[in-house]
Amino acid sequence: MVDSKKIEYLKNLTIKDLKQKTREIKAQLPQEQRNVITYSKNFTISLSNYCQNQCGYCFYNYKVPKINGEGNVVLISNEEIVALVQKAIQYNCKEALLMSGERPEIFQEVEVELKNRDCDDFIQFVIDICSYLLDFNLLPHTNIGELTYDELKRLKKYNASMGLMLESTSMRLFDKGGVHEFSPGKLPEKRIRHIKDAGKLKIPFTTGLLLGIGESLEDRIKDLYLIKTIQEEYGHIQEVIIQNFIYKEGISYHPKKPISIEEIVKIAGIAKIIFENEIHIQIPPNLIAGYEKDFINIGIDDFGGISPITKDFINPKKPWPQITYLKKICEINGYTLKERFPIYDKFINKTEFRSNKIKKIIDIININDNRTDI
Ligand code: SF4
Repeated sequence: MVDSKKIEYLKNLTIKDLKQKTREIKAQLPQEQRNVITYSKNFTISLSNYCQNQCGYCFYNYKVPKINGEGNVVLISNEEIVALVQKAIQYNCKEALLMSGERPEIFQEVEVELKNRDCDDFIQFVIDICSYLLDFNLLPHTNIGELTYDELKRLKKYNASMGLMLESTSMRLFDKGGVHEFSPGKLPEKRIRHIKDAGKLKIPFTTGLLLGIGESLEDRIKDLYLIKTIQEEYGHIQEVIIQNFIYKEGISYHPKKPISIEEIVKIAGIAKIIFENEIHIQIPPNLIAGYEKDFINIGIDDFGGISPITKDFINPKKPWPQITYLKKICEINGYTLKERFPIYDKFINKTEFRSNKIKKIIDIININDNRTDI
């Protein structure tokens, strides 16, 4: 249980207070790390948009009618994967984000397609794609919804890191009309169990909060402390994403008052205070375009995956910024933008956190020195 006084204290901090405190936290870092913001040059492979859940804010799910006429994907084709990989190599991407709806294999269409592709199950399909990516020195980061311990274990050696958003543990979201009313996979105990299992397996991990889906400021702070508690036990969480909900036509959730930039900046600052320099704070730059300076000044450390070749499948109308644009904004504010791997540096030399294959690929990339070192 988090001390309610701590929550009250954080809730009452002003943006000015937060800036001051996060500056003090950053000052504890070695000089060369203080003024750095990172990103990962990636591309997305959307495996299947069949999903067992129906989150009220989701545009990706196969059940949501797409007004731009895009069809649903039972399973991505081999031809599409080959084409994406060729493009990713051409654009010097290092990370492949593998995403899908949760448990697509429960749908008969997917099951049939898996059989046609000689895959025993969906995890085998993901592993086959990861192996293919590794052959081209592309580092997989898989985030395909809630998984069992054994499924995570099977995926570990093929992934540089993995992820699952905690989103929010507020049970109000499961009430009638709440965004998680029809999403059994979003039950907090399942998400927490998954994140802990990844910790037991020593998988470098990304999690985060989804803001503006019906949760309160207090809920957000409690969830950040929950992530901190998990981190204290397992030490595998490398970054926490502070992601804001964006309305899209066709979805059922349409809040009267969308979350404001100031609220997002505030929780990013509170996250920095809670995690100090132990876990990186990531902001998706395409969702806060025009306000990057506010986030840099509140102490965020990372802009996450940015793709030169694929869209943001969750927010398709929010294009990724140009790296040169972000670089300029960072410089104006006294920061350097630096490319990173999907596994953070602190885990690369810890053998228990990555397979030899992943390390070998990182070494090859480093020797060729073809990271866009901006
Ligand atoms: S679990 Fe993910 S893909 Fe499925 S409905 Fe929810 S947000 Fe969409």
